[in-house]
Amino acid sequence: MVDRIYLSPPHLGRHELNYLHKAVEDNWVAPAGPNLAGFEAELAAAVGVPYCVALSSGTAALHLGLLLLGVGPGDEVLCPSLTFVASANPILYCGATPVFVDSEPATWNICPERLREAITDRLRLGKKPKALVLVHLYGMPARLPEILALAAEFDIPVLEDAAEALGSTWRLQPLGGFGRIGVFSFNGNKILTTGGGGALVTYDRTLAERALFLATQAKDPAPHYQHSVLGYNYRLSNLLAGIGRGQLELLDDRVKRRREIFSWYQEHLAALPGLGVAPAAELPGSRANRWLTTALLDPEATAATPESLRQHLETHNIESRPLWKPLHLQPLFADAPMYGGTVSEDLFARGLCLPSGTVLTDDDLRRVLRALREAL
Ligand SMILES: *Cc1c(COP(=O)(O)O)cnc(C)c1O
Repeated sequence: MVDRIYLSPPHLGRHELNYLHKAVEDNWVAPAGPNLAGFEAELAAAVGVPYCVALSSGTAALHLGLLLLGVGPGDEVLCPSLTFVASANPILYCGATPVFVDSEPATWNICPERLREAITDRLRLGKKPKALVLVHLYGMPARLPEILALAAEFDIPVLEDAAEALGSTWRLQPLGGFGRIGVFSFNGNKILTTGGGGALVTYDRTLAERALFLATQAKDPAPHYQHSVLGYNYRLSNLLAGIGRGQLELLDDRVKRRREIFSWYQEHLAALPGLGVAPAAELPGSRANRWLTTALLDPEATAATPESLRQHLETHNIESRPLWKPLHLQPLFADAPMYGGTVSEDLFARGLCLPSGTVLTDDDLRRVLRALREAL
């Protein structure tokens, strides 16, 4: 059997081991340590935001982010429907309800018109949304000018879920720095990985201090163990932060290669009937990290479906995945309000994520192309 081609596997560089080695030699394993402080400073610098708290996952960062914005039981939080479930689960952790909003076709991200409709309708019902979770799906920058203007107009704080968008920019400014709080993930499939981890960034020092406090069991400043509020065990370990430091050195290279892979697919899928990369064009001023290359089928031009393609690729030991299933279609969120829906449902029906990891060789890419050509 030929080697398996994975969707987006981890890709380690040369320096991760140095950081790990040093941490073990110096006995700095946990809870804190120089790698943790170093990783936070280096990530903050890479994103251009002054404060960063490294955490055990992107999901933990989103959870703390919502808590810092005051989200609690009975509140409502705006969130795109077309995203990974981790964008919305923390809303439920807080006892709040997600209010889902459809995508728009150019970026696949939250649609400004539907968002305005959702906000005005919730206000009419007497419920002002407490926060907006702003996702940049597959690394593609959302329509920031319109969305940030809406958030400002209605005074709704933005929690920017940049888990898939590390290294993407808008007007040369890194994503993750546009909300009151930004969130990254270093899960194994992301553009950089710590084997599992996340981070929260913010311009607000008080919020960063509060995040660190809540992430480390919320110990009151007393020599004995005293607790007045509910805390969590959400800190990243100094060992994993060492892997993160090695990975961060590679960010520019990794973005460059992901973008090359996207362009390669774009060029070569053009010759195939009924299949093309999408969303193809970046909005003016945006630059996507192209974390995953996603393709859309045109049902007028081919009888193939995302599932038939996925199964065919699987016979060649190639992993591909459907797009995130819209959250308003998930049983877990059956009761959540939804504004619009046709755009995300159509994308889900026609879309497929192609192998996009930076470990892929040009030979691997040709293997994927041959299998797709065969299937079509
Ligand atoms: C991966 C991801 C997360 C969660 O990150 P974890 O580190 O896996 O908890 C959140 N939101 C989006 C959009 C993601 O892709």
